Amino acid sequence: MRKIFNFSAGPAALPEPVLTKAAKQMLDWQGSGQSVMEMSHRGEHYMSIHADAQQRLRRLMNIPDSHKVLFLQGGATQQFAMLPMNLASTGQSVDYVNTGQWSKKAIAAARDFGPVNVAATSESDNFTNIPPVESWSLDPDAAYAHICVNETIGGVEYFFTPETNNVPLVADISSTFLSRQVDVSRYGLIYGGAQKNIGPAGLAIVIIREDLLDRVRPGTTSMLSYKAHADADSMLNTPPTFAIYMAGLVFEWLEGQGGVQAIEALNKEKAALLYQAIDNSSFYSNPVDPDCRSRMNIPFTLADDSLDKAFLAGAESNHLIQLKGHRSVGGMRASIYNAMPLAGVQALIDYMLDFEKTKA
Ligand SMILES: *Cc1c(COP(=O)(O)O)cnc(C)c1O
Repeated sequence: MRKIFNFSAGPAALPEPVLTKAAKQMLDWQGSGQSVMEMSHRGEHYMSIHADAQQRLRRLMNIPDSHKVLFLQGGATQQFAMLPMNLASTGQSVDYVNTGQWSKKAIAAARDFGPVNVAATSESDNFTNIPPVESWSLDPDAAYAHICVNETIGGVEYFFTPETNNVPLVADISSTFLSRQVDVSRYGLIYGGAQKNIGPAGLAIVIIREDLLDRVRPGTTSMLSYKAHADADSMLNTPPTFAIYMAGLVFEWLEGQGGVQAIEALNKEKAALLYQAIDNSSFYSNPVDPDCRSRMNIPFTLADDSLDKAFLAGAESNHLIQLKGHRSVGGMRASIYNAMPLAGVQALIDYMLDFEKTKA
């Protein structure tokens, strides 16, 4: 057993049994005599790993036959550009809701390709809420409407799926992937980087409704075309084989935990405990509206920020690491993804109470 609890926002902690299994298989995967890293991506061993990971994800998320799963590279950030290139025709406007730093980056990237309508923004409230849906100015002719379901930096999460009628809903779920149930059929496209809740960095996953594949702008190079990747079953070129293998192990682990429904219940419990500890104290605070507080990334500040350094140093000596907040928000951030056990959250709360007693 490892001694530390790792609260990194990403690349984030992976389930210990997954790392143990990968270590066991490192030199010789299932009697093949090879590490997964050394296998031809067109050979039968890797092909079975690839197909298995995809099937497990389809099962875990209940992905309907109408949607394709793509394993890509370039992170979620490359998706920021691929979305308009693949879904919007030249000059066609796209809708974005701006709820934080990741929404902003997605908007900035989309602007390189055409007009962007920011249908709603919470920037003037310092990104502490989601603007009420009734106030959104959605364009019925937009190519798609984009939301960031969980703002990893600000700690703001959607717990509802907005209705966008005939405009396909597109969602960045990088930091909430597989943490709770999602009705995939409501979305035109869902995407995310793996390094928050699924596996190592280097893999991005896109789940796209098949009829949207044909929208790709003429002349788009194949590596940036969803259609080309879908036609090649994500093997247009060498895929990130080891990252996909690791994701497959995480999916297997999650199935063993009882699937998404079971982990969602645990995630609710973990987040509720931590928010309760913050709200019950006059020393710690979280600025986000209670109805959209993230279950995955929980930023909090100390009443006196000159104590930040002491808080972090004390946390480290208690084996609680990577709690420093994002430079744009300051303070602390506890990322408590699927791999963070309840005991880790409890250890953090115990430490916070202790620190408050001695320093406040
Ligand atoms: C981490 C993150 C990204 C960026 O992911 P990269 O893989 O670094 O490109 C985008 N959106 C959200 C919500 C994230 O948490």
